[in-house]
Amino acid sequence: MGHIRLQDIRKSFGGLDVLKGIDLEINEGEFVVFVGPSGCGKSTLLRQISGLDRPSAGRIEIDGRDVTTVGAADRGLAMVFQSYALYPHMTVHDNLAFGLQNNKMPKAEIASRVAEAARMLEIGHLLNRRPAQLSGGQRQRVAIGRAIVRDPTAFLLDEPLSNLDAELRVSMRAELAALHDRLKATMIYVTHDQIEAMTLADRIVVLRGGQIEQVATPMELFNRPANRFVAGFIGAPS
Ligand code: ADP
Ligand code: MG
Repeated sequence: MGHIRLQDIRKSFGGLDVLKGIDLEINEGEFVVFVGPSGCGKSTLLRQISGLDRPSAGRIEIDGRDVTTVGAADRGLAMVFQSYALYPHMTVHDNLAFGLQNNKMPKAEIASRVAEAARMLEIGHLLNRRPAQLSGGQRQRVAIGRAIVRDPTAFLLDEPLSNLDAELRVSMRAELAALHDRLKATMIYVTHDQIEAMTLADRIVVLRGGQIEQVATPMELFNRPANRFVAGFIGAPS
């Protein structure tokens, strides 16, 4: 589960062509990182995959099912944003449980999923706090927890660590890698941080101006960049 296929994805806003034909296949359990300069279409591409937005053209398949016109709630994916997007008036517990209550899941199942996510992310002692009473790192853990409780086939993460200070970013990076090992779920991760991309990715997708410049493992990308742009972006000698 968590096999994602993008065929010729295009997205325009008015006269602006933001995605210009993206073809990509993401394997089950793969950690794929989208990198590229600001404005190249990373978030837009993630929004098309998540179902928060619809492409102007192209086809999206998840586990063989055409989901191009399927809404976000029915794609079995979970999104994590840079801005956390927690409900400020709810406790951490309720932030974690909220989406599940909407799904009419049995109470015991909700309780066990919340407890498991809280344990995994070491936020069990914070369950009665509200977001305003948390540090940035703790808020980001809650945001990730809210994705985990949904047991998605894939996680879509849009620059989830970019609001954290450098030290915390490094430790959270390691935690995300450990989480991926453990959950075995597909992860699609957007960042403009090359080091983050190189350390986390099974494969890196380099985007530029709404197109894919190269898809490769970190080692391949470093050793054999397809062009000067990729070489410059990844920081390898060209
Ligand atoms: P990135 O995440 O790589 O920084 P984005 O995907 O956010 O880039 O944006 C790519 C381009 O699409 C930018 O030029 C941005 O202004 C434009 N864009 C994104 N969303 C919209 C929208 N809803 N309406 C108009 N333009 C948009
Ligand atoms: Mg973005």
